[in-house]
Amino acid sequence: MAATRQRSIPARLDSAAKACAARGARLTELRRQVLALMLDSDGPLTAYQLLDRLREMRERAVPPTVYRALDFLMEQRLIHKVERLNAFMPCSDTGHDHPAQFLICRQCGRVAEIEDRVAAEALEHAAERQGFHARSAVVEIDGTCAACFHRA
Ligand SMILES: [Zn+2]
Ligand SMILES: [Zn+2]
Repeated sequence: MAATRQRSIPARLDSAAKACAARGARLTELRRQVLALMLDSDGPLTAYQLLDRLREMRERAVPPTVYRALDFLMEQRLIHKVERLNAFMPCSDTGHDHPAQFLICRQCGRVAEIEDRVAAEALEHAAERQGFHARSAVVEIDGTCAACFHRA
């Protein structure tokens, strides 16, 4: 949704390129195109949806082309994978590691990313009480977004 985008796509691509460069990595033209497709989408995209869109610009793109770009973008923490949907979306906050919770709307397919440290810490502590050493805690919450809820 346009209203939720704080900055333009070119500006976000530029800051992604800078974040990569600061880590000694390069946001190549292909990686940039894949990221741009995600920034331009209203909801998360699967690898095959990305491939279809990428083929409009690169006829010879094949699944590994997309998977390699996705791996790079995840490594650079520019995108997230929403496991429940097996789909990818840009991180709302370029390039740092952070606990994430996703609100997945089953009506419109949009996914909002929230970054609630209190919730993340509560989960970590709950795990610790079981003697469990948590590595990551990504929470995916299913439901209905505010817009869909009020429309109903
Ligand atoms: Zn994020
Ligand atoms: Zn919705």
